[in-house]
Amino acid sequence: MMKKTLTLLLMLLVGYCRAQNADSVTIRKIYNEALSNGQSYEWLRHLTKQIGPRLSGSTGAQKAVDWTKQLMEQQGFDRVFLQDVMVPHWVRGAKEEAYIRNGKQKTTVPIAALGGSVATGPKGVEAGVVEVKSFTELRALGADKVKGKIVFFNRPMDPTKINTFEAYGGAVEQRANGATEAAKLGAIGAIVRSMTNVHDDNPHTGSMRYGTGVPLIPTAAISTNGADLLSKSLSENPNLTFYFKQNSETLPDAKSYNVVGEIRGSEKPDEIIVVGGHLDSWDLSEGAHDDGSGCVQSIEVLRILKSLGIKPKRTIRAVMFMNEENGLRGGVQYADLAKKNNEKHIAAVESDNGGFTPRGFGIVGTPDQRAKAIAWKPLLAPYGLTEIGPGGGGADIGPLATLGTVLFGFKPDTQRYFDYHHTAVDRFEAVSQRELELGAASMAALVYLLDQHGL
Ligand SMILES: [Zn+2]
Repeated sequence: MMKKTLTLLLMLLVGYCRAQNADSVTIRKIYNEALSNGQSYEWLRHLTKQIGPRLSGSTGAQKAVDWTKQLMEQQGFDRVFLQDVMVPHWVRGAKEEAYIRNGKQKTTVPIAALGGSVATGPKGVEAGVVEVKSFTELRALGADKVKGKIVFFNRPMDPTKINTFEAYGGAVEQRANGATEAAKLGAIGAIVRSMTNVHDDNPHTGSMRYGTGVPLIPTAAISTNGADLLSKSLSENPNLTFYFKQNSETLPDAKSYNVVGEIRGSEKPDEIIVVGGHLDSWDLSEGAHDDGSGCVQSIEVLRILKSLGIKPKRTIRAVMFMNEENGLRGGVQYADLAKKNNEKHIAAVESDNGGFTPRGFGIVGTPDQRAKAIAWKPLLAPYGLTEIGPGGGGADIGPLATLGTVLFGFKPDTQRYFDYHHTAVDRFEAVSQRELELGAASMAALVYLLDQHGL
């Protein structure tokens, strides 16, 4: 009896090792293909240099839809299709102007209207400034001190946080809700320190939203150098004034699309695995790290599988989501359609943290599902994927969680992401070919394991 059990255990172990070995051989091939014949970098060059900024509703966004559809058709994927989605259509208008007026001296500073903000009117806004580091500090000042002023939100991202996304999370409420909190106390404008740890002259735009029942006041990001100068000037002269003019406008919603390409599963075609990024970008940038990288990496995942002759058991989809930046309509629409069409999405992988050196994946799922994926670590760690555990999935795939889909957020190194995020310098030149290709291979390896073993 004892002997029988031992033999059985041994057989299971041998089987397990063989499976692991087959997996490790395939993963090696995936990396070889990505690093020797990778296409993602040239695709990114086209998306950033030939198409450029792709804010929802813009002609750039439409060109990106047309081009990625055509690209996936050229790759010979089994099916390529669009999903209609209505998206917000905000436009910046003419470039903003801003200066600090300190006595007779006017010093120009770089600002960028926040996405969704109203304009200042053609004459701009000029007023005294109250500087705060938090909403608590703002409320403590009260309407007496804030009414008729411009509120300057100057809490920096915490430089001691090792993961820069944590630092971003600790500061971004100023950008998202600062205008509303300021308007509640009668302010006439809100200026927000850019979300970055670097000190430079690039304002970082990003989305904001207005609360209901509160006046809509104009709001803009100021570069970190500009914020430091404003703060220093205020400490010397609390009575200085700040002037800004912006010309932004919200137009009626526009029709746009998610772009989907798929390789149909050979054994379980009804089980779907998504790999994706978002196709829209902010208007100031080429959207190279955010999120052109995630888009080209996702298409590259399917190309790698196809070129290696891997016939997935399940259906693998590359999804270019539309409108992550200022509405998430594409992600919501994708999940709504999945529900309506009774599609079974077992897993979704998103790359939206930049095209940097891969570190791992964050997982959203049950403890059992997470444990199964964490058990693949020995297969992935040789490629630098050591951070595999609970974590965020991704904004676009987030709505799939209600369907029971297990979510995976690709985690590259975070140290440089916010040097570029939502600025004019998030361009092709900021992306390393090597790092981008390693990311695509990492995603392909995970998708391969998900397809082979399920969750
Ligand atoms: Zn993004």
